[in-house]
Amino acid sequence: MGSYGRAIMTGYICRLCSEQKKKVIHLYSYKSRSLHLLEKIKLLPITVDKYDNLPKTICEGCIERLEMQYNLVQKIRKSNIIQRSHRIYHSNGRCPIECPLHGISDASWSTESDSTGDD
Ligand SMILES: [Zn+2]
Ligand SMILES: [Zn+2]
Repeated sequence: MGSYGRAIMTGYICRLCSEQKKKVIHLYSYKSRSLHLLEKIKLLPITVDKYDNLPKTICEGCIERLEMQYNLVQKIRKSNIIQRSHRIYHSNGRCPIECPLHGISDASWSTESDSTGDD
């Protein structure tokens, strides 16, 4: 934690973790666009604007976490749609074989929803 260490440290501040990193991706770069970083950042409780005077770079670690977060949200959204259509379209107990929830009894939903074991 010497002050000289801070002085020779060069890099970019990551918008998400505020750490200074050498390897970052600029949010408005081609690379960022190909990774859809701006879209994924919309899931976070921050707003990024091109002209907001705040760092526009994010580090690799945060990109990785952002990907995971994005995948989780996508999964939850998809799951929600599946569950709703299962409820709405065949709530009479006749769950068609095409339904992703076919064969899953409602009773198991409440307790062990994540122990399917087919990972
Ligand atoms: Zn970061
Ligand atoms: Zn169903």
